[in-house]
Amino acid sequence: MTQAIYFDNNATTKIDESVLEAMLPYFKENYGNPSSIYYFGKSIKEEIVKAKKNIAKLLNAKANEIIFTSCASESNVTAIMNAVKLNPNKKHIITTSVEHASILETMKYLEGNGYNITYLSVDEFGKIDIEELEQAITNDTCLIAVMLANNELGNIYPIKKIGEIARKHNILFHCDAVQAIGKIKIDVADMNVDTLSISGHKIHAPKGIGVLYVKEGIPFTPLIFGHQEDNKRGGTENVPYIIGLSKAVEMILDDNYKINGRLEELRNYMESQIKENIEDVIVYGDLKNRLPNTSNIAFNGVKADELLLMLESFNIFISTGSACNSELAEPSHVLVACKADLENYSPIRVSLSKYNTKEEIDIFIKRLISIVNMLRRKK
Ligand code: PLP
Repeated sequence: MTQAIYFDNNATTKIDESVLEAMLPYFKENYGNPSSIYYFGKSIKEEIVKAKKNIAKLLNAKANEIIFTSCASESNVTAIMNAVKLNPNKKHIITTSVEHASILETMKYLEGNGYNITYLSVDEFGKIDIEELEQAITNDTCLIAVMLANNELGNIYPIKKIGEIARKHNILFHCDAVQAIGKIKIDVADMNVDTLSISGHKIHAPKGIGVLYVKEGIPFTPLIFGHQEDNKRGGTENVPYIIGLSKAVEMILDDNYKINGRLEELRNYMESQIKENIEDVIVYGDLKNRLPNTSNIAFNGVKADELLLMLESFNIFISTGSACNSELAEPSHVLVACKADLENYSPIRVSLSKYNTKEEIDIFIKRLISIVNMLRRKK
């Protein structure tokens, strides 16, 4: 079996060796409960505080604004439900049609419970229209929820501008920054966000750990009640995972986003090689303003699922879009929102990480050229 080539890093990433190493003592020796009053527990509480400081530094936040959760989905749901509980008389929310399922499914639930949701449309490049957003605001609006970067297209949305509009109208603003973390700078103060979520497993920390940033002074109702996290999220802290996330964040701080320059070069090299060697290719998304590691690409007449199966037989792992939707075998809601011609141009998503190399890209392109040609001949 040839070495696996993993190009699905927007779905999840490999745990970094030093992240795992940092976590292991907290499974073995340092297993005390952080809420205990004796040293064996209290010293672990101190490590949690340090982890909060690291994460706060990455987001330009304060340590007391960081809440650990079980995943970013929990963070997203908590932020939305908090906004709803804070404004019981306001029944309107603005979001986009390209958010992650954890946002869209919560909106669906709220729609079933008397809420009116505006789903901002996107153009063919997946861009939203700020004017449409501002026009959608009413006296009944209790929340605006827009992602910083899209998981399928890599598009980066104008969060700072949206934050200014939200502030002007005195409306809470939540931002899902799961795909942006580590790939572009996040500054919660500059972006005017009230709440923001991130997840460990997109930055080489484990699955099952998330963060919710809640701006100081915003009244907060937990989703899970209890004494931990300053009464904001009950449940004994997942200490090893918090330590792992903190280590992954430290690595981003140490690297200072330099890795992304290399990823962007690799991604651009891949796209130019594909376009040189394969006819009639489309790259979806806002090509001037997207994450450095992401490429959403389609080959006329080639069905993405057939292509992916063939690539898998060569141990190359890529997805058609969001891992959360792929089991449903439904077309991507993001590309449907872009009104993409999915019949003729069904896309694959290549998402790179620091572990990917030019050699892997070259192997992938060689295989891709022969598979696309073969599938086109079969038609
Ligand atoms: N938001 C976005 C944009 C995502 O891509 C994901 C994960 O795929 C999530 C939220 C959910 O993160 P988690 O798996 O930690 O719940």
